[in-house]
Amino acid sequence: MKNSRTPVYHRTYSGETLDHATLLRAVEKALKKSLSKTGLARPRMRIAAWIPDSAPLRGVVLAKTLLRLERKYGSTTIIVAADSLQDVVERQVDTEHVYMYDLETPASGIDVSDPIACWRIERSLAIKTARKAGAEILVSPLTRTDLNLLMLEAVLRGEPEALSEAMPVLPWTDPPVVAGFSEAEGELIAAVIARTRTLTGSNRCNPCFRDAKDLFYSVAGSRPELDFSSYKSLNLLAGKAREKYGVCISCGGFTSPGSRTCRYCASAGLP
Ligand SMILES: [Zn+2]
Repeated sequence: MKNSRTPVYHRTYSGETLDHATLLRAVEKALKKSLSKTGLARPRMRIAAWIPDSAPLRGVVLAKTLLRLERKYGSTTIIVAADSLQDVVERQVDTEHVYMYDLETPASGIDVSDPIACWRIERSLAIKTARKAGAEILVSPLTRTDLNLLMLEAVLRGEPEALSEAMPVLPWTDPPVVAGFSEAEGELIAAVIARTRTLTGSNRCNPCFRDAKDLFYSVAGSRPELDFSSYKSLNLLAGKAREKYGVCISCGGFTSPGSRTCRYCASAGLP
């Protein structure tokens, strides 16, 4: 039986070897840093942890981490999740503050292998659910690696409107959406999942990066925690696109100037 001091994660770039407790602390630290960088976090906030169908395992790590930080922050954590994950949430997350959204109908109107479509549709539903639940901030479980992949996807598609998906914060939605792990490499969160994975279930959305992932790992190689873009450069890039495009009233993503909703929300029938 492994004890809690057994090394479970090796950070290539820093040479650190983390045991389970240190790993959890590193995740907490990354989440606090991501939140404080937005300038939106205050004490005693009502914070929604989003467990999306598109990334349920990362969502559970996020929810558990926010619940652990609850006392330190004096905040209240609520859970916003896809109804397909009801069992997962009940088994994995110890709170009664759970608000679910129905993904069935909107997901039937989109290509569920398209990462941009999946994030936009789910985010639209999560924003509305968080708002109704009185959340002041909606935290997604996206890591810096996810944001990098979304940025590459937008660039490879030649679809600058999709750059909004790579932003660590969407400040104009109500409530604002923050990528909770924008200060963590994807592998750090994956290491927690690998230690605790007990999840099964049937996702409706199965976003799949093809070209972006190939390109990303061909450059990042065996050191994938070395992501290309910093928080600052992602924000700068997307901020430039923001000057040219409008914002979808449903998901908060960029859309062509003059249209109220983006084409993804429109095809899913979302207002
Ligand atoms: Zn939209």
